[in-house]
Amino acid sequence: MEDCIFCQIVVGEIPGEIVHTTERTVAFRDLNPQAPLHVLVVPKGHFANAAELAAGDPAASAELLTTAAAVATAEGYDDYRLVFNTGEGVGQTVFHTHLHVLAGRSMTWPPG
Ligand code: C5P
Repeated sequence: MEDCIFCQIVVGEIPGEIVHTTERTVAFRDLNPQAPLHVLVVPKGHFANAAELAAGDPAASAELLTTAAAVATAEGYDDYRLVFNTGEGVGQTVFHTHLHVLAGRSMTWPPG
């Protein structure tokens, strides 16, 4: 999608600090990190949220999780948090599926 910022990062039209790529995913550092490790893993194809990705491209959906684990391991973290925000009401601001990978600080539950 032309006006999707994460589609533009995937194809290299705008810069992103990419840390890992696979056949179906790209992982890059969040511009506004909320933890020492804060990476976003996105599918190369455009889907608005995690459920739409799972329905439309199950292989990419699974690959988001394996990529997230690979990124955390590569950065030296055994403990990490994975987050999908779905909908404006819970804070989703970019409507291209993205899995937050957060690690490196203590975290509370439930999240705020
Ligand atoms: O889940 P949510 O939609 O709120 O997350 C979007 C994330 O994308 C934010 O953490 C924001 O910092 C990040 N972002 C980014 N680079 C951009 C635009 C947003 O890393 N160009």
